[in-house]
Parts: sequence; C-alpha cells; structure tokens
Amino acid sequence: MSARARAVVDTAALDHNLRRVRELAPTSRVFAAVKADGYGHGSVAVATALAADGFAVASLDEALRLRLAGITEPIITLSQPLDAAVLAEASAQNIQPVAYGPCQVEALAQYSGTPLAAWLKIDSGMHRLGVAADEAGALADRLATAPGVEDLGFLTHLACADDPGDPMSDRQLTCFSDAVGQRAGQRSIANSAAVLTRPSAHADVVRPGIMLYGSSPLNDHSAAELGLRGVMQLTAPIINRHRVAAGEPIGYGAQFVAERDTEIAVVGIGYGDGYPRHAPSGTPVMVGGHRCPLAGRVSMDMITVDVTDAPTAEIGDVATLWGPDLPADEIATAAGTIAYELFCRLTPRVEFGAI
Ligand SMILES: *Cc1c(COP(=O)(O)O)cnc(C)c1O
Repeated sequence: MSARARAVVDTAALDHNLRRVRELAPTSRVFAAVKADGYGHGSVAVATALAADGFAVASLDEALRLRLAGITEPIITLSQPLDAAVLAEASAQNIQPVAYGPCQVEALAQYSGTPLAAWLKIDSGMHRLGVAADEAGALADRLATAPGVEDLGFLTHLACADDPGDPMSDRQLTCFSDAVGQRAGQRSIANSAAVLTRPSAHADVVRPGIMLYGSSPLNDHSAAELGLRGVMQLTAPIINRHRVAAGEPIGYGAQFVAERDTEIAVVGIGYGDGYPRHAPSGTPVMVGGHRCPLAGRVSMDMITVDVTDAPTAEIGDVATLWGPDLPADEIATAAGTIAYELFCRLTPRVEFGAI
C-alpha cells in the first residue's frame, strides 16, 4: 500500500485546454507558459504532451532543461538577465531572450555571435519588467540594427486582465501599441486572462499558462464555466481511521472540536507535500465520491478529515485533494491563495505520474 501522495497529470485534459486556447485565439500562435516546472506539473512532461507553437519559461536553465529533453519548438525566456555568455548559449540552443530593461538591451546590442531571435519587453504600466514606453522606440531602433539580432518581437504583460472591467488593461494596450508603432516584428501581450476576455490583446503570440493546467484566471468564473478541464489530480491514501467522540479535539492546537461523534480518516498528505497549511477546517476533500470536510489543522505529514458521511471509506482507500471533481481553485480560495501557488508548491515528496 502506498503511504504517500501522488499527482497524476491528465495529458488529454492538457490537450483539451490547448484546443480551448486555439478556439479563443484562432489566428495567434500559442507559446505555452511552462515556467516553474510547468506550474508544478513537470515542464518536460507538459511540453512533450502539448502541441503548442512554442514555450515560455522564466530562465535560461528552464529552457535548457526542455532542450535537453528534446523539445525543439521556440522557447522564450521571460525574466533571464542577459550577458554575453547567456546570449551565446541562447543562440546555440535556439532560445529567444527577452530584453526587459536598458541593461538587457545593451547586452543584446553588443552581442555579435550567431544572430538570434529576441524580444523587447515594454513596461506598459505594470512596472515590474520592461523598458519605459517613452524609451522603447529608440531602444527598438538600436536593436533593429544590432548585428546579433535577426528578428525582434515586442511584448508586454497586463497587470489586471483577471478583472475584465478594469480600465488598466485598455490603458496598457494603448500604451503598448503607441510605443511599438508601425515597426516590423511579432507582438505578444496576452496571458490566460486576456486570452479569455480580450480578443484585442491576442496579437501574434499568446502566452497562456494557468488555463492550460485547467484553472481559472478570472475572479468570477470557474474553470468549468470557461470550458477548461483540470489537469492535475492529487491523491493520498487514508492511513488511519477512527471514531472521535463529540466534544473531543482533533489535531494541533486542539482548535477543532468534534460537534458530534465523528468518523475521522487520517490522510497521508500535509504541508510537507505542499498541501496548504492555511486550508481551514471545512475545506473539502473527496473521499469515496463524497465531499468531506477537513477537521483540524493541516500537519506536515497528514490531514484529518471528517468522513462520517462517507461510511465506506477505509484504510488504504484513496482521497482526492484536488482533481476533476474538486477544482484546485476551490481549495486555493479556502486557503487564501491561488491555484498557481498550490501547484508550484508541491514538494518532491509527491510522486508524479501521467495518464
Ligand atoms: C507567467 C506568465 C504568463 C502566463 O500567465 P497565466 O496567468 O498563467 O496565463 C504570461 N506572460 C508572462 C510574462 C508571464 O510571466
């Protein structure tokens, strides 16, 4: 009997979600965001399974991992600082760097090795990465004549696309298009939220992440409402089961007290596996087809679940922490975070597999 948590990645669901992206943005190329190890799903497994046009990662290291695994599509590095060594490696491996500030532009302009495709990121208002909009034109002109750049694209990132009514997105789109003007080159703006809600931001290349993994980037729509299918199923075995009398506490701090005689299943997953410690009592866990409430604090190695309403649950049965019938978004909301973080925080103790 397995003692530990297991995550299964449903490649058919990944494929379904990519088709959703293509339906929504039919004329754009799709660069799938697989940074942070494919949002915790395994970047190599995800990139191998996904028929995307390219991939977006954070760093050169993340890109090289995909190349080593035989991924041949274009890869762009979103937040990799650039210098001569990085650019030589990027060129050798057909990786597309992003110049996101004056230092990056300088490094790219100085680079004189085999020419590479590169991107200029423009800060259209998020004020994180990107060259200032009023300097973008001059910097773009500099890169357009640089010997080491054969193809220059333009990208920006939206701060508030998760709220379609937020006027910031319109301001950012105007800022970006004014800054780029009529220059030749690909444009890329949209994350998942903008793929779903802003056709005017789709441009040449979209960069969806979270929607490919089947979670909703929008505050007021569930993944199911958006036609997305959850990709990861996280399960763990029941390792103990017992009755706790009404009035008795359960778990650390003795903060949870059974209101009735309660059947408790102890499930072998905790914050040591990445299950969120802030998930409060009442957070749902699927046991034997029933939604059963967490009862008591999350421990490092286990959680305690009220299975009084799942009478057949036995030691060795498998509980689902999130999966097709229990969206990770729901657990994230209960724990005061977002599904992105739940996925990224799974620890190496979780055993991964694919279906
Ligand atoms: C992570 C990231 C994306 C993808 O965002 P999602 O919200 O997961 O779709 C797109 N663009 C940039 C620059 C990113 O950092």
